[in-house]
Amino acid sequence: MNIYTNCSLLHYNTFGIQVRADMLVEYESVGELKQALALYHERMGEKPLLHIGGGSNLLFLCDFKGMVLHSLVEGYKVVGEEGDDVLVRVGAGMTFDDFVSESLWRGWYGLENLSGIPGQVGASAVQNVGAYGTEVGSLIEKVEGVSLSDGSQHSWKGAECGYAYRQSIFKQELAGQYAITYVTYRLHRTFRPQLEYGGVRQAMAEAGFSEDTLTAMKLRQVILFIRRQKLPDPAVQGNAGSFFMNPVVSKREFDSLCRRFPGIPGYRQGEDAFKVPAAWLIEQCGWKGRRWNDSPAAVHDRQPLVLVNKGGARGTEILHLCEDIQTDVKKKFGIELRHEVNIVAPEGDLDDIDDD
Ligand SMILES: Cc1cc2nc3c(=O)[nH]c(=O)nc-3n(C[C@H](O)[C@H](O)[C@H](O)COP(=O)(O)OP(=O)(O)OC[C@H]3O[C@@H](n4cnc5c(N)ncnc54)[C@H](O)[C@@H]3O)c2cc1C
Repeated sequence: MNIYTNCSLLHYNTFGIQVRADMLVEYESVGELKQALALYHERMGEKPLLHIGGGSNLLFLCDFKGMVLHSLVEGYKVVGEEGDDVLVRVGAGMTFDDFVSESLWRGWYGLENLSGIPGQVGASAVQNVGAYGTEVGSLIEKVEGVSLSDGSQHSWKGAECGYAYRQSIFKQELAGQYAITYVTYRLHRTFRPQLEYGGVRQAMAEAGFSEDTLTAMKLRQVILFIRRQKLPDPAVQGNAGSFFMNPVVSKREFDSLCRRFPGIPGYRQGEDAFKVPAAWLIEQCGWKGRRWNDSPAAVHDRQPLVLVNKGGARGTEILHLCEDIQTDVKKKFGIELRHEVNIVAPEGDLDDIDDD
């Protein structure tokens, strides 16, 4: 177990926000996690407790005056085989994309379209990460966790986790209550490529890959290629991927939007709803590539869904940018944009945070 006090979190958040935590504890096993929790309850009293993964979906607004937990529980093991399916239990601290790559080498398919998503395995189950037509929730068999309040161990079947677009019970009714320790994925021995989404076929053709000879590894290369074209690398420019979720509106609202804004894109969601790309809404409001108030907080110049730190931005500047975008989108389209990124603020009023 590694214990750091007054620790910089600069390398624990991909936005690259310079904040500190009173204490950061990294643990390598469930036993060590329980020791860390005992330490927290003994020493930190009423102070807040936060579990982070790779920090690729977090925005810190100020120093964290409490304990931050970080999992180093790695490794994976086959725990079952059922027909074509293989059940693999993976440590929550493993880098998600390392497991995606490893699974494909092993001939376990299903995660290929999720290649290149930053962060850890544990957070994949919290966030229900998704990309190119696949959501991880559809491949999760079981999630294991430890209660942060009393150290007791729990598990949830995939179907109990409430998975929906970027949602799970771990972001809703159980938010902040459990440390996820292991995730069991249900993968398949047969490769069934999903190619319908977001320019995958076109990128395949450009790479000279035909559908007949496509392998999961080749599909991974295609996905990684598309992602590199579209998304800024956090190592070069701080960001947390898509800052906002794509809003879903009713058919009636969408029809009315189409009359007012001919050409507005929308993708049918079931019978009576449409998903509208938030990037389009943001661009129409003139925010693409713009900075907030001459600060280093800006909207990415190629992908308006991504807010970036051009160097030395404060969390509050990114938050102000987020709020101004939300206001403008609401004013122009009547649509509420919800942020996907988890904002870490002190308890109480956001206005209390020192902006200087
Ligand atoms: C360049 C870039 C591209 C991205 N692309 C995508 C994409 O295509 N699709 C997508 O869905 N997301 C994407 N993301 C967002 C992000 O990668 C995912 O949300 C990822 O799952 C976050 O993982 P993390 O380990 O960094 O979690 P963190 O950001 O550290 O935490 C996210 C949330 O999970 C909680 N958490 C983390 N670990 C645990 C644990 N072990 N136990 C309990 N709670 C925990 C945290 O408290 C927090 O609420 C992208 C981000 C970046 C920077």
